Amino acid sequence: MDYRKTWKEILTFLERDLSQAVIGTFFAGTELASLEAGEAKVFCPNRLSLEHLKQRYAGKLAEAIRAVSGQDCTLSFEIRPVITPNIQELGPIFKAGVPNNGLVSSYTFESFVIGLSNQLATSVAQAVVEQPGNLHNPFFLYSGVGLGKTHLLHAIGNAVQQRFPDARVVYASAERFTTEFIRGVQSQQAAAGFRGKFRGADVLLIDDVQFLAKKEGSQEELFNTFNELFLAGKQIVFASDRHPTEIKDVQQRLISRFAGGMVTDIQEPDLDLRLQILRQKAGVRGAWVEEEVLLTIAQQLEGSIRQLEGTLNQLLTIATAQKVDPSPELARAVLKSAPVSRRFVSAPDVIRTVCQCFGISREQLCSKSRSREIVRPRQVAAYLLRQMGGASLNQIGTLLGGKDHTTILHGLEKVEKDLSQNNFLRNQVESIRGEILGKNRT
Ligand code: ADP
Ligand code: MG
Repeated sequence: MDYRKTWKEILTFLERDLSQAVIGTFFAGTELASLEAGEAKVFCPNRLSLEHLKQRYAGKLAEAIRAVSGQDCTLSFEIRPVITPNIQELGPIFKAGVPNNGLVSSYTFESFVIGLSNQLATSVAQAVVEQPGNLHNPFFLYSGVGLGKTHLLHAIGNAVQQRFPDARVVYASAERFTTEFIRGVQSQQAAAGFRGKFRGADVLLIDDVQFLAKKEGSQEELFNTFNELFLAGKQIVFASDRHPTEIKDVQQRLISRFAGGMVTDIQEPDLDLRLQILRQKAGVRGAWVEEEVLLTIAQQLEGSIRQLEGTLNQLLTIATAQKVDPSPELARAVLKSAPVSRRFVSAPDVIRTVCQCFGISREQLCSKSRSREIVRPRQVAAYLLRQMGGASLNQIGTLLGGKDHTTILHGLEKVEKDLSQNNFLRNQVESIRGEILGKNRT
């Protein structure tokens, strides 16, 4: 294993969560000394760095190592002063010589399991790789947390880089974009570096754009960067936790750029996909796990794939430590200690959001009115209550002003049929769903 390369990828992964300042301060001059048999040893240049890594960042570091190498590790740290001069001046990411494109190499299409919920997003992503800048530009990808947006963004970047080795691929979270932009405001040299990097991209991947809310300067800069790249026929991909129209406190002109190309979402994985992902993740770790155990986990964790993965890792780690096979009992024990995954979607939230989006009152929604302007929102509310809240027909009937369950069923059938034929309605419902999920994010 090339430890230098692996370490670089680990640090790149950490940049998802840690600021550039933290990485530059505490990780500068660190090295991966070894990584084998579930043990990782990290050299730190001084005590400050060692203490911080050990006490504050060990968890994140272990997660990053797992993501990059597929191994669960116990960590040890040792002080080893660096001899190279000036090494502290730059963050570790930038001192490596080769320009860093920010990509994690394990996030590829090959390691991305496809199912109903992410099929469309994946095929758009693959089309982007086939013809960057051409077919779907920009490509805007959105979903709830932990469903694979970041993975897909990196997969696009890695695949483009592989097909076109000279292409300049740049991946950055909106947070990172903002930090670098601010640094650019403070020094001319940094400003030139920033411009060169983002405006020089052939493929620009910006993650978590909802982060730009209220950051006027960065929005302006992204808007200008976008226009320049777009006019030059360069590919731009955005990811966000919600539909463009649901992003708050971002200038309208930027929103309309976001929504100006292909907008696609990833939905929550169904049981089948969850199982497949667990099989794949167990396979990557070289662990053989009985189907029944995988099923136990897949049945209980419905929301985020990150959590699915985390739970499997936890189970395997405990099983290894106790020198037992991972059994359904052990899985249940691990699941008990896991945080409740189901995102709580409350009925009043659904109803309120639907009313807001259609501009009607709750009284109207729950009234006996049969006018089109009221019936449609009522059907959509029923659909979302059922789909997101898992409410029964009777419960929905009660929530919507004492309707009969056959009336509700009728409405559901109608809206489902319309959804399959009517793009406008589909987008409308998706954006309402995004809004509700946004409210329930913890
Ligand atoms: P998001 O950016 O939407 O919050 P991530 O892309 O970070 O989600 O995904 C969370 C974790 O789940 C990552 O480790 C990722 O590799 C994994 N993951 C998500 N979707 C899939 C998939 N379809 N196949 C395999 N792994 C997946
Ligand atoms: Mg992400």
